[in-house]
Amino acid sequence: MTGFDRQGRPVYRPLGGWVEAPDDPQPELEGEAAADVIVVGAGFAGLSTALELAARGAKVIVLEREFAGFGASGRNAGYLAGGQGLEYDLFLRRVGHAQAKQIIRFYDEGVDYVERKLAELGIDCDYNASGIIRAGVHPSQEKKLRKSLRTGVALGSPGKFLDYAAMRARGIPPAFLFGCYLPGGGTLDPGKYVMGLRRAALRAGVRICENTKVLSWADGPTVTVQTERGRAHAPFLVLATNAYTPQLGLLGNKVIPLRVSALETEPLSAAQLASLGWPRREGIVTAHWTMESHRLTARNTLVTTTKRLHYVYGRQTPNVPDEAAYRALANGLHQRFPMLGDLAIRSCWSGYISFAYDALPVVGEAGAQRNVLYAAGCSGHGVGTQSLMGLLLAERICGAENPLLAALRHNTPLTLPEPLQWCAVNAALGVANRLDHRVNRKARDAARR
Ligand SMILES: Cc1cc2nc3c(=O)[nH]c(=O)nc-3n(C[C@H](O)[C@H](O)[C@H](O)COP(=O)(O)OP(=O)(O)OC[C@H]3O[C@@H](n4cnc5c(N)ncnc54)[C@H](O)[C@@H]3O)c2cc1C
Repeated sequence: MTGFDRQGRPVYRPLGGWVEAPDDPQPELEGEAAADVIVVGAGFAGLSTALELAARGAKVIVLEREFAGFGASGRNAGYLAGGQGLEYDLFLRRVGHAQAKQIIRFYDEGVDYVERKLAELGIDCDYNASGIIRAGVHPSQEKKLRKSLRTGVALGSPGKFLDYAAMRARGIPPAFLFGCYLPGGGTLDPGKYVMGLRRAALRAGVRICENTKVLSWADGPTVTVQTERGRAHAPFLVLATNAYTPQLGLLGNKVIPLRVSALETEPLSAAQLASLGWPRREGIVTAHWTMESHRLTARNTLVTTTKRLHYVYGRQTPNVPDEAAYRALANGLHQRFPMLGDLAIRSCWSGYISFAYDALPVVGEAGAQRNVLYAAGCSGHGVGTQSLMGLLLAERICGAENPLLAALRHNTPLTLPEPLQWCAVNAALGVANRLDHRVNRKARDAARR
């Protein structure tokens, strides 16, 4: 396998595969500043909130530790996906059918919201409205896939089962035997999307302070935020810091950061692309316990993600390579696409999602005045949902609660203290890896026969 350096290490990109640091960095906050709303974090959630507030006439300051898009928003796989294929078993019994239906509507509405915004804001991010296929690579996955599809449909999210013949008729690469076709959404370039939001926010008069790490905040009728070289004051604070929120003293008992890794190949040759088929380029995810995702990009590279998740002790989020994850991804790519031969790898990267034990979003208000709003916990589904969250939070700040925001309010299960959490999460991930490994071995044996 090429794409690893002479020592056999993968080609690591600390900023992810889609974005570069912008060439118009926005000045760091220095001294005192005041606004109607302070937003911390410039990913999909923070930038969308700022844009929606600016559209309602509010003066907004966004404080971002690095640069807009530095977090998961600039590192993800770019699947714009709705409510089909969520981890229903983790929350259905907890919230009940009626609320689950509204939650699924929130996920599906997230897809429509992004599609609307791309058109309204004129953001070109290579969006391919192909729909998504949730596929099985071995017959043992069919029952679970069909059950999940039935549950999703009963909760109001569309999808249809594709058997072996239907998958071949669509030209899907042969390792993916059967699957659920989810017609909403598709794939985009998340780097171009988040940078498009950044440009739109600047155009709308939002003040974005980059290289501005928030150190602490103090609540009250006016919230004060302390950064390394300044202070900002506003009647409302929005913490759009996702996986990093526990480091700001909030949600440490509700969400944990999980590291997700990705790998991108060099562009495929015309012959390699022809050998793949895959004419509509649907984003593919698998039905493993820890899913795999495989998609083609507009630059004709293959991007594969997930497969191995990692939890770092103490909810830490170091921006470091995860070589074991990259090797697993490279092996997975080879197993799913043997017709491509030895693939050159362009880059590997990792980022953090925030995960609640019931896999649902975590939204709410903190502070004595309930004027510190937060939104985290969108697991691996934030492209649509964290964008839509911007609208819901802006409406809430302006005094109206959208029914979709109301639907997300529920009792999130409490996380465990350390070291129990580290043991429990890594044990669960280890079991998932072993089960997935067994499926992959069976799929490999079946393919050899
Ligand atoms: C590898 C990978 C693949 C994924 N694939 C998909 C996918 O295909 N589809 C999908 O829907 N979702 C996917 N996700 C999840 C999705 O990317 C996230 O849910 C979403 O981007 C979260 O957006 P956000 O704005 O809430 O958070 P983020 O984008 O993480 O933004 C938070 C921001 O807060 C900033 N920040 C943190 N602390 C501070 C501080 N103290 N002061 C100032 N700023 C601070 C960070 O620098 C960061 O920019 C994936 C995630 C990863 C990592």
